[in-house]
Amino acid sequence: MRIANLQGRGVILTSDALGADVYTASGGVFGPDLPSIFGRWEEFVEWAVTDPVLTRTDGGVAIDRVLLDAPSPAPRQIFGIGLNYSAHAAESGYAEPAEPPVFTKFVTSIGAPDAPITLPDNGNTDWEVELVVVIGREAYKVDAAAAWSYVAGLCIGQDISERRSQLAGPVPQFSLGKSFPGFAPFGPWLVTVDEFVNPDDLELGCSVDGEEVQRSRTGDLVVSVPKLIAYLSRTLPLLPGDVIFTGTPAGVGLGCNPPRYLKAGQTLTTWIEGIGEIKQVFVSESAL
Ligand code: ZN
Repeated sequence: MRIANLQGRGVILTSDALGADVYTASGGVFGPDLPSIFGRWEEFVEWAVTDPVLTRTDGGVAIDRVLLDAPSPAPRQIFGIGLNYSAHAAESGYAEPAEPPVFTKFVTSIGAPDAPITLPDNGNTDWEVELVVVIGREAYKVDAAAAWSYVAGLCIGQDISERRSQLAGPVPQFSLGKSFPGFAPFGPWLVTVDEFVNPDDLELGCSVDGEEVQRSRTGDLVVSVPKLIAYLSRTLPLLPGDVIFTGTPAGVGLGCNPPRYLKAGQTLTTWIEGIGEIKQVFVSESAL
């Protein structure tokens, strides 16, 4: 099942172009917004997989990409994971960590899947393709073996990162430099785990103005999705709707020699096998 956030309303896709509004199709039982759907995720899935309304492909609402918002628009927690692919750790000048570095992207950084992003003036703004996990039910002290059952679905994300802010202090501080407005775009929709033949090994990548800069597989994650959920949930409960940016593979601009960063007018296209693609155009702050 694929679920999009169309102008604040949950929509189950019945094709690439059409969807069923959850609130309307369920007679007002579920939705209309995504956070309330995540709040009753298991009940919702049980209804969605059995309701005959959703098997109809006639009618429904048009999926206009310009109107899509992030599939989890108001998570209570957003986790970012650093250095979670060996080759990216190496290009960043670090050894593969024994325990994953964890930071947050603040919620105001969430962006729509295809929204333009404003580049901060005098910034070194970089790309980071990442698999994004959305939690479907509370996970606290769970085992990796059961961890996928706590996931609502997967999205494509970009952990957009402004490197000057990130590296300005005496030690790298990730959260602020990765939290400018729009720096956490994800979507274009949430794809439930059952849709993937192997959710632990998905090809992902991104390109800048058509030039491929990153390509890898989530099978190369140092700490896999189930192990990340087990690891994080050892410390705190993961809540329905919470979002995990699982880390980026090699090929970021900071790792280039010389480093290269995003410029106004450039287009960043990001894709993950089995989900689709998202697209950002960058605009300069001083041009606004
Ligand atoms: Zn990242």
